Amino acid sequence: MSKNDSQDEQARAPGRLTIPLDVRAACREGLVESGQAPLAVLPRCRDMALPHGMLTYEVHFSEGAGVHPLQAEVQVSAPLSLECARCREPVTCPVSGHSTVSFVFSDDQAEHVDSGVEPVVLGREGRIRLIDLLEDELLMAVPLMPVHEQACSPLAETLSAGQAYESGQIDESVAGKSEDNPFASLAALKKGPDEGK
Ligand SMILES: [Zn+2]
Repeated sequence: MSKNDSQDEQARAPGRLTIPLDVRAACREGLVESGQAPLAVLPRCRDMALPHGMLTYEVHFSEGAGVHPLQAEVQVSAPLSLECARCREPVTCPVSGHSTVSFVFSDDQAEHVDSGVEPVVLGREGRIRLIDLLEDELLMAVPLMPVHEQACSPLAETLSAGQAYESGQIDESVAGKSEDNPFASLAALKKGPDEGK
């Protein structure tokens, strides 16, 4: 939990995640990369990382027969600490993403990949760092409106009492029906017995 621990974690990050990978060769070989890495090594996910949170990943490179034959199946999952959209308190969400990626060499090519396929534009050298691929996939999978699955914190419950009432969590008689209102019965008495006829 100390500062040194997190430095150690970064030092232990598998080197192959940061080595620029020859995508053509990886696809031809049908390379499979899988494992776990500390979330702390992903720069853009660091502020969502739990202490010692781990990213689990699996990448299958393959060569297809289409116009853009260089492809990969990318799977990631990690617990992330996000802000609850209801109560603004931290909420831990298991986040997972799965994409079919098509490697292309220009923005123009990227616009013409099949629907449902994520284009990844490679530089002239045709290389990519696995860590960038995994980080993009995880960021795409982050829910836009994360909320606590169970109840939010007590403070938040007070704030969202209106919602709780609608869903029937608060007894209607407590909220005040006219029959139970003492002033209503008082008014009825004042009117006298004859007026009701
Ligand atoms: Zn909440």
